[in-house]
Amino acid sequence: MKKILKFGGSSVANGESIRQVASIIENTLNAGDDVFVVLSAMRGVTDALIEIAIGTREGQYVEPKLQEINELHEEAILELGLDSDFALVTTFGQYSSQIIDHLPNCPGPSIDFNMWKDSLLCFGELFSAKILSAFLKKSKIDTEVLDARKVVVTDSNYGNAYVHYQKSYDRIREYVMNRSRLQVITGFLGANEYGNTSTLGRSGSDYSASIFGAALNVDEIEIWTDVDGILTANPNLVDRPISIAELTYEEAMELAHAGAKVIFPPTMIPALYKRIPITIKNTFHPEAPGSRISQDRVLGGEVTVGLSSVSHVSMIRLQGAGMVGVKGINARLFTCLADKGISVMLVSQAFSEHSTCFALKPDETEKAVLAIEDEFSKEFKMKYIDKIRVESDLSLVAVVGEGMQTTPGIAGVIFEVLGRERINVEAIAQGSTKRNISFIVGDMDVKRAIQALHRRLFETV
Ligand code: ASP
Ligand code: MG
Repeated sequence: MKKILKFGGSSVANGESIRQVASIIENTLNAGDDVFVVLSAMRGVTDALIEIAIGTREGQYVEPKLQEINELHEEAILELGLDSDFALVTTFGQYSSQIIDHLPNCPGPSIDFNMWKDSLLCFGELFSAKILSAFLKKSKIDTEVLDARKVVVTDSNYGNAYVHYQKSYDRIREYVMNRSRLQVITGFLGANEYGNTSTLGRSGSDYSASIFGAALNVDEIEIWTDVDGILTANPNLVDRPISIAELTYEEAMELAHAGAKVIFPPTMIPALYKRIPITIKNTFHPEAPGSRISQDRVLGGEVTVGLSSVSHVSMIRLQGAGMVGVKGINARLFTCLADKGISVMLVSQAFSEHSTCFALKPDETEKAVLAIEDEFSKEFKMKYIDKIRVESDLSLVAVVGEGMQTTPGIAGVIFEVLGRERINVEAIAQGSTKRNISFIVGDMDVKRAIQALHRRLFETV
């Protein structure tokens, strides 16, 4: 089988975990599989580099932070017994001085800042890939680093770049065609058509794995992380979350968008298009089966697969008798928000059309209210719209599962559970695909809501 093995930052936290990663790679190779490795930066490194970028822009002294990053890598090199690897040590010296040289070019708070920042962030992935590759070589595995910037072509939306799939696929295929060594690929990175470094969004190396998987037509993408797969609920909220054995791409996407942190949502796109299954596995517990995401999950007895939530959101309600039957109110509402770059997380409108409400991030509420007051100033004056209400400290909860499309009564079960817990529901929305029922409760109730639903839906007594 041809496989992508992707390891996240927590799997490359230190020398010991890098050993564990190497042994997983070795076992897969020994099983006769054809392997490509995609790697994130070591744990905490991207965060630290972002702090350095911001600190530099603000004129702070970033030297100690830089030192921390160097030490983290140096310790790993020592722990892995790679300190005598001359090529590796030299590369490190070069990278470190490239970082130092790069800092004074910081352009201040302009659009160019993101471009400059991406050229700094790339060192996280370059460092970790070098270390893993050197360690694999020491273990007699013939490998080399593939700097993804050579082959992943993106637009210039630095920090969150869009990948040009076809161009990237062509380059990836051409690049690997005549190479027999195991490729250790830097996740998260790309370059625009002028060769400027770009990054694919925080946690974007999952996405890299999927892009390389689709380009190379692999049979399977394995995402190795530090939990036993995608869980039925956030382990910080419930005592006994269960790893979901199988789920469809759509279910995984619904869960990820609704806050489950295991997989970066865009990851699913290239894999889904090529129908490549994705398995989420635990680097530190490789015996666990993990979660398998594919198109053909057997729709068995389970109606729902998981719960997820996003806390600290706000909601805006727009109310007025003058909204009933009037065409174009919603169009104007969401256009004026979009024009201000405000993203809406959930929408609900009652059939009476008397009110519409939507959820958004709290730091965007003020901007949203101003935009709405401006757009509907006439309606406010005429009292067609009488109220605009902002509520805060709310949580969105999503119950996800393909089986809900064909099983009557599931909404009844959900709201009965909440009723019994005396939890007040602020708004409800069911995704048009019916595989997601979402609702809003107060932040203070979210833990209880998730716990009660988890008991009812996933913990069989
Ligand atoms: N190192 C990057 C980040 O921390 C990419 C990744 O981990 O997937 O966001
Ligand atoms: Mg990461």
